[in-house]
Amino acid sequence: MDRLPAARRFVRRFVAGPALEDALRAVARLNADGVDAAVTHLGENVATADDATHAADAYLDVLDEIARRRLRAVPSLKLTHLGLDLGEAVCRANLERVATRGLANRTLVWVDMESSAYTNRTLDLYRALHASHSNLACVVQAYLRRTTQDVERLIEVGAAVRLCKGAYREPPEIAFPDKRDVDASYARLLDRLLSADALARGVYPAFATHDERLLDRARDGAKQGGVPADRYELQMLYGIRHDLHAPLRASGVRLRVLVPYGKDWYGYFMRRLAERPANLAFFFRQLVRG
Ligand SMILES: Cc1cc2nc3c(=O)[nH]c(=O)nc-3n(C[C@H](O)[C@H](O)[C@H](O)COP(=O)(O)OP(=O)(O)OC[C@H]3O[C@@H](n4cnc5c(N)ncnc54)[C@H](O)[C@@H]3O)c2cc1C
Repeated sequence: MDRLPAARRFVRRFVAGPALEDALRAVARLNADGVDAAVTHLGENVATADDATHAADAYLDVLDEIARRRLRAVPSLKLTHLGLDLGEAVCRANLERVATRGLANRTLVWVDMESSAYTNRTLDLYRALHASHSNLACVVQAYLRRTTQDVERLIEVGAAVRLCKGAYREPPEIAFPDKRDVDASYARLLDRLLSADALARGVYPAFATHDERLLDRARDGAKQGGVPADRYELQMLYGIRHDLHAPLRASGVRLRVLVPYGKDWYGYFMRRLAERPANLAFFFRQLVRG
C-alpha cells in the first residue's frame, strides 16, 4: 500500500502524513480558518512496554509543539497505544505523564474509546485520574446499549464528553445493529448532554459526527437552551465533510477537527473505509487507475 502512489494518495485524504510536522502544518491551516484541532498519533494495541512509552513520549512532543507554536489544538489518544493490553499499571503511568504535561500546558487530553473489550477499563482509568487531572476528557459511543448509564455517571463528575456513534464491529447484544437505532440513541444522548442539569454540573459536551441532522440538532438544542457557544463544541475528522467547516464556523459554533498522523495508519484507515462503503469503491477505482 505504501509503495502504490494511488493508495498513498487515498490514505493521505484521512491522514495528514507520517510525521508530527505534517499534522502541525494541517493544524495551522485549520486554525487559520477559525477551526480548532485535535492531534492523534496513530497507533493502537502496542505489544511492548517500550512501544507504549514511546507513544506517550510522542504525545509529550505533541503537547510541547502545540504550546511552542501557540496552536489551538489538543491531543486525542488511545489507551491501547499507551499499553492498556500490557496491564493497567503500564497504561496508567503513561496516561498520567501525558495528562500531567497537559495540565501544566492548560490543555485538555481526550481519551478515545476503542472496542467494547476496553470500555470498562477505559472509563475506570478515566475516572481514577480525573480527580487529579481535571483536563482529561473522555468519549462515549452511541451504538453501545450501555451508554445511557455511562453518560449519567459521567454527568455526575462533570466530565468533558465526546459523543460519537462508534466505529468498531460489535455484536448485537452489546451494540445496536440498526443504524436508525444508533442515530436515535445519539439524538437522545445529545439532548441529555446539553440539558441544563448536565451543564450545571460542569459537563462540556463535544458532538463528534458528520451527520448533518445531528449537527443541526446540537446547534438548535444549544440555541434553544441558551447554551453559550464556548460551553460545547462540534468535532469532525480530517478529510471528511470539509465543505461543512466554513458554514459551521460562520454560524458561530466552536468546531474541532481531529488530525491523525503517523506511519501506523492501517487500523484507522480501515475504520474510515468500513464506515462508508462508497469509500471502498472509490479506493479500488483509484487503485486500478493508479
Ligand atoms: C472527532 C471524532 C472523534 C471520534 N472518536 C471516536 C472514538 O474515540 N471512538 C470511536 O469508536 N469512534 C470515534 N469516531 C468515529 C465515529 O464513531 C464514527 O464512526 C464516524 O464519525 C462516522 O459516523 P458519523 O457520525 O459521521 O455518521 P454517519 O451516519 O456514519 O455519516 C454521516 C455522513 O458523514 C460522512 N461520512 C461519515 N464517515 C465517512 C467516511 N469514513 N468517509 C467519508 N464520508 C464519511 C458521509 O457523508 C455520511 O453520510 C470519532 C469521530 C469523530 C468525528
